[in-house]
Amino acid sequence: MEENGKMRCRLCGCEFDADAHECPGCHVETEILKRKVQLPPARGAVSDYPGILTEAQVGELSSMVGAFFKQTDVPIVIAIVQNTEPLTPSEYAFLLYNHWGIGKAGVNRGVLILLCLKERHLESEIGLGLEDILPEEEGDAIVQNAFLPYFRDGNFFEGLRDGTKAIITNLLEKLPTLS
Ligand SMILES: [Zn+2]
Repeated sequence: MEENGKMRCRLCGCEFDADAHECPGCHVETEILKRKVQLPPARGAVSDYPGILTEAQVGELSSMVGAFFKQTDVPIVIAIVQNTEPLTPSEYAFLLYNHWGIGKAGVNRGVLILLCLKERHLESEIGLGLEDILPEEEGDAIVQNAFLPYFRDGNFFEGLRDGTKAIITNLLEKLPTLS
């Protein structure tokens, strides 16, 4: 949204100069905000927009992340999109994570796992409150490695399940050490 050289950040609502490099509120790059991209509404723990999962598969993923949330108070949200154009999967995941408000304000401990079908890519967005124990790049490597063996055959559900499991395992090893 751009008006009179000002724009309003659609993530945090901040108004700022459109020629600024980033939003002063949430630090998203202005260039990313200017690109036309529609962010869909969340559909709960698993948002499967292309409809590639069966009901049972959605149920399995939902109970996996639901159990983890009960144990840790950390939400893991899963989204499947056809593609992320004109953004990269990483930019899209960042916007979606913030748009959906995953992870409580102030604490910001949450994870978004984004499956991009066209890009054949599994992306993670780690909330800032978790980045000390699971840095963004490590999260991306974990999910993508778990997903890779399933790529060629298009077994997206198995890849998504194992990627999510791998993130959960990693976080469970580290979370109890936090007070
Ligand atoms: Zn902002």
